[in-house]
Amino acid sequence: MGASILIVEDEARLARFLELELLHEGYAVTKAADGREGLDAALAGDFDLILLDVMLPGLNGLEVLRRLRSGKDTPVILLTARDAVMDKVSGLDMGANDYITKPFSIEEVLARIRAALRTGAPNPRHSAVLRCGELTLDPARHTAAYGGTPIQLTYKEFLLLQTLLENRDIVQTRDMLMEKVWGYDYAGETNVVDVYIRYLRQKIDSAFGVKLIHTVRGVGYVLKGDGT
Ligand code: CA
Repeated sequence: MGASILIVEDEARLARFLELELLHEGYAVTKAADGREGLDAALAGDFDLILLDVMLPGLNGLEVLRRLRSGKDTPVILLTARDAVMDKVSGLDMGANDYITKPFSIEEVLARIRAALRTGAPNPRHSAVLRCGELTLDPARHTAAYGGTPIQLTYKEFLLLQTLLENRDIVQTRDMLMEKVWGYDYAGETNVVDVYIRYLRQKIDSAFGVKLIHTVRGVGYVLKGDGT
């Protein structure tokens, strides 16, 4: 039996379409048509993943997510309207694992589902604060700081930094980072790791005049303490 997925979506035709596609892929599917029904189902059931629309009657998706996260770590992928940047940011801050912008292709949805199922719930409420010298990252609060000064990171930057910190002093190949941050099925540019490492260096190494993120030529990257 495949993983069980809860679809919370009020547009009946879209919900039905997703249901059929997911059933076809071998997943077990449950549907809920509004926020309250979705929250009840999510809390009562034992789902491996939740596809959660943001614009829902009754209780909106972000409120469903907020209430769900006070009790459960079930991975959540938000379905958001195009350009609803605030929804995405709030959703990720509230513990969504990923988001998909409407309109989407079913291939994209399936790829994100596979990635989220492999990565699993971040289980942030039980994670300790990670440190490397003055650099700290708090998975539970989704915050990072250097010497107490907050660092603003996007979702993927945060995951990448978290991965480097969890593997402090251990060289990570591009493939390892790719797998841990973007999932096995990521089909985008292969240099995405280098691009995001550059973003992190700008926001940490350059911004604070330190050298924490080291390149291991021909291999990958490693995060090491100050001054080394
Ligand atoms: Ca909707």
